[in-house]
Amino acid sequence: MTAPEPPRKLPALTPETEAFWTGGKDGHLLIRRCTGCGRYQHPPTPLCPVCRTETMEPAPVSGRGTVRTFTVNHQQWLPGLSRQYVFAAVELPEQAELYVFSNILAPPEAVHGGMPVTVCFEHQEDVWLPLFRPENTPETPDAA
Ligand SMILES: [Zn+2]
Repeated sequence: MTAPEPPRKLPALTPETEAFWTGGKDGHLLIRRCTGCGRYQHPPTPLCPVCRTETMEPAPVSGRGTVRTFTVNHQQWLPGLSRQYVFAAVELPEQAELYVFSNILAPPEAVHGGMPVTVCFEHQEDVWLPLFRPENTPETPDAA
């Protein structure tokens, strides 16, 4: 038996970000994409920065990515009990410099730049938080 973890701070849903935070419900990482030129845009913006089209629609991506940079957060949740979190910029293969910022479910010493990762989701209330785990590892967030 493991102690329940304090909840992460949940993001506020907006019309532009809702798909990103709820796509995990169906197992998809959804990134807004311009219907005009096909550019992915994340974080979402109202207008396509390339062609100025106003119609940006959520599109499922592969869910794979590559760790580009990361930091280790030392978060103390309970007195005397601290836990480390890896927070990373994950570049998606669908487009150069398309980044999702999230936690990597692995010990800090196991994370390195260029590391392949795969998305997984942590369901809390009406949000499915996209997290990443090392590629080819079982989906066991509690073991991270
Ligand atoms: Zn566009």
